[in-house]
Amino acid sequence: MENVIDEYREEGIKLTPQRIAIIDYLKGNKEHPSADDIYRAVKERFPTMSFATVYNTLGLLVARGKVVRISIDSVKMRFDPDNNPHHHLICSSCRRIDDICGDFGLGPPECLPEDYIVTGHHVEFYGICPDCNKTPGRSASRVPIKEGCHEKA
Ligand SMILES: [Zn+2]
Ligand SMILES: [Zn+2]
Repeated sequence: MENVIDEYREEGIKLTPQRIAIIDYLKGNKEHPSADDIYRAVKERFPTMSFATVYNTLGLLVARGKVVRISIDSVKMRFDPDNNPHHHLICSSCRRIDDICGDFGLGPPECLPEDYIVTGHHVEFYGICPDCNKTPGRSASRVPIKEGCHEKA
């Protein structure tokens, strides 16, 4: 995300103040915000900004690999400005997403077709975050977590 604004200027991509505000909001953001979170945060500075602006800007950033779409939250798509490969941990109570930057030593399984080109992998963990664990009554899962063959209940 660091040089996104300079890069886009050099390439002649139109950067409105709203777009710059969205990029600034995302820079170094560890919250894995949804499009709605971004919209609400940036709208405070630009009350006339439309949701479409957030959506289009995210589309541009994702297409250029500056922001990664995260599908770990079954309720809404989340976005990650950290495009270095890493894994995610989601709290099934408050939906907080944390980064996991470990190497699990995972390689492509032998059962894959021989000519299949694997370009990456992503491991998702589900659990209860320390904050929810400390709060009585919050540790129960309020929103069903994503059903998946890789999920351990
Ligand atoms: Zn939590
Ligand atoms: Zn992340």
